[in-house]
Amino acid sequence: MESSLSPLDFPAFEPKCLRILVASSEAHPLIKTGGLADVAASLPAALRQLGHDARLVIPGYPLALRQLREPKPLGEIRLQGYRSAIRLIEGRHPDHDLPVYLVDAPEYFAREGNPYCDPTGRDWGDNPDRFMLFCRVLALMAQGLSALGWRPDVFHGNDWQTGPAPTLLQDAPWSPARVFTIHNLAYQGLFDRATFDRLELPSALWNLAGLEFHQRLSFIKGGIVFSERVNTVSPTYAEEVRTVRFGCGLDGLLRQIGHRFSGILNGIDYQVWNPAADPLIFQNYDAERFGLKTENKLDIQRELGLPRSEDAFVLGYIGRLVEQKGVDLIQAILPELLQDPRVQIMILAAGERRSEQALLELAGANPRQIGVHIGYDEARAHRIEAGCDAFLMPSRFEPCGLNQIYSLRYGTPPIVHRTGGLVDTVVPATAENLAKGTATGFVFDEPTPRALLGAVRWAMQIYRDDPEGWRRLAITGMAQDFSWESSARRYIDLYHEAIADRM
Ligand code: ADP
Repeated sequence: MESSLSPLDFPAFEPKCLRILVASSEAHPLIKTGGLADVAASLPAALRQLGHDARLVIPGYPLALRQLREPKPLGEIRLQGYRSAIRLIEGRHPDHDLPVYLVDAPEYFAREGNPYCDPTGRDWGDNPDRFMLFCRVLALMAQGLSALGWRPDVFHGNDWQTGPAPTLLQDAPWSPARVFTIHNLAYQGLFDRATFDRLELPSALWNLAGLEFHQRLSFIKGGIVFSERVNTVSPTYAEEVRTVRFGCGLDGLLRQIGHRFSGILNGIDYQVWNPAADPLIFQNYDAERFGLKTENKLDIQRELGLPRSEDAFVLGYIGRLVEQKGVDLIQAILPELLQDPRVQIMILAAGERRSEQALLELAGANPRQIGVHIGYDEARAHRIEAGCDAFLMPSRFEPCGLNQIYSLRYGTPPIVHRTGGLVDTVVPATAENLAKGTATGFVFDEPTPRALLGAVRWAMQIYRDDPEGWRRLAITGMAQDFSWESSARRYIDLYHEAIADRM
């Protein structure tokens, strides 16, 4: 690999203020398909607030290029084997005091829409090439480029799209400490042997201690094997993925790396998700003015074409339509749930075409009780969080989950399956917790329609029979603190551990 830019001399490592390069394939609001985007923007912003020099790098998708503030080209990078030059663009994040670099390689990233799939929902065929190019640039940036005038103490990769970067740094003349975060182990970036050959990776990497995973090329494995510290986004998920049931084939490796692997719960951005000041909702409210939340219910009922009724028990769902999220469990309980005419369900979702179609048909058949919006709509997500009475999150597994945390803040108690980050964020409404006043939501044990229905009925019973108990539950949730500050401090500890252990 070669670059037209040469490494610089950098000041010696200064332990108090860390320089951290955070790399991700998406970052809110520049480009977003899921929770990774929220984290990739909020974490570096929080690190900066704690006095560290964190910077973010993502691919130069058209949407990101359009939204970057004060964009300024830094220079061109030439990589062996790539026909065109790659431009590095520096700018500012639209919402935070955060430097952002975009890797502008039009041949690979100048595609509208989703970063991973074509408009029909199929993965782009050249995804390994696209994200390997990204990783090659990341590896150069991590070593310090004259154009950057900056060299990180820590390279922090996220998910499979950045997995090979720590691998490439392994043989570099110099490498920062490497930290790798798994946001969802189900997505590993697996490709065939021919892809490994085409990408011209060193053949020595094709083995169990390298990138090979059951005769396939694994991007995520590169991040796990070649980083000093690896973490995932909640303590419970960190435990779960070390078991065969949740480990997606990597449980053995994750057990093997022992203390190098841990779980740090995501925070949420209370600047964006705050019912007291949210400009996207109809009526602002807080715990003291909890009654005003009803205005949002009436508003979202109107918006989704449902009868406006204060008395309805309104359940919400927002998320990707994939098996993980358990939307099929919601569908399975609808016939029973809708027998009660005072139940309404609102769904904002996109994903598998068949599921989208099935949901639209359900809404068509139950226009007074089901409101479905297919598509991705950030503003409407805020209004659903604010307007619903309770939020459904029956995920089969959930690395951290953000919507249940947003729901807590919006006084919309979440109804969740006992898994992953859902366990770490929701205090179940058991009789004991209700009596103590610590309950914040409803937790069911098995991902089955029966268990989900039981939890919904339990919630509805409290909602109807004990309005004061319900208010207390909702307000207790609103008072929970999942801000980024404490999570960011945990990451700083992790960075220091990685520096101390640099391979
Ligand atoms: P995941 O990352 O697995 O998709 P998370 O709960 O961690 O799940 O994060 C999902 C994020 O994406 C949340 O911020 C959620 O509000 C948002 N989101 C998901 N689907 C939609 C949608 N259809 N419209 C608007 N926002 C959505």
